[in-house]
Amino acid sequence: KPVIGVLALQGDVREHVAALEVAGARAITVRRPTELAAIDGLVLPGGESTTIDKLLRIFELFDPLRAAIAAGLPVYGSCAGMILLADRVLGATHDQQTLGGLDVTVRRNAFGRQVDSFESSVEMAGVPGGPVPAAFIRAPWVEEAGPGVQVLARTRHRGASGPAVPAPDAGPAAGAGEDAGRIVAVRQGTLLATSFHPEITGDARVHELFVAIVKE
Ligand code: GLN
Repeated sequence: KPVIGVLALQGDVREHVAALEVAGARAITVRRPTELAAIDGLVLPGGESTTIDKLLRIFELFDPLRAAIAAGLPVYGSCAGMILLADRVLGATHDQQTLGGLDVTVRRNAFGRQVDSFESSVEMAGVPGGPVPAAFIRAPWVEEAGPGVQVLARTRHRGASGPAVPAPDAGPAAGAGEDAGRIVAVRQGTLLATSFHPEITGDARVHELFVAIVKE
């Protein structure tokens, strides 16, 4: 079994640990630089990317993790984790630094204020068995992806079995139409990222894809 770490500084750590175990990995939490040597892959959970960034520096994990990613450590970033993996960030309140490695530009909190959170499902390349249930919680999207980046999933277009973004409280100008067709899952080599949280839906297929990437 591959040993996959979950960065455990902030965010929904336990849910990723559980999903990884279901997906056939041995999951351990990671808080110290020395623990990086023990893992075959790492999950960066959702949470608040600026907080995780601060904690990465306090725990002296920022530089070692950056180096490990550059050296080829497989990493799956979900939501805030996607932001941390992105080379470029839009919509940040300050000049936000990231671990980087993924040649994408992400937009933080991209789905708008009224629509901070919603559930949907997305067809995801590399994930057989039908659409993946996806929870979007103040989620980013990928605004631009470099040539080496595979787009694995986009938000639904309305009319394709239900609204792209069910947003009961969204006003007419909330831009639900603009939320359709957005890039919400990408892969570049051994780096995987999703805007959404698959770990809270009880469906471990995205984690299975990551375990397969780690095993490759
Ligand atoms: N909005 C958060 C951020 O910008 C991400 C939210 C999440 O991880 N669910 O970091």
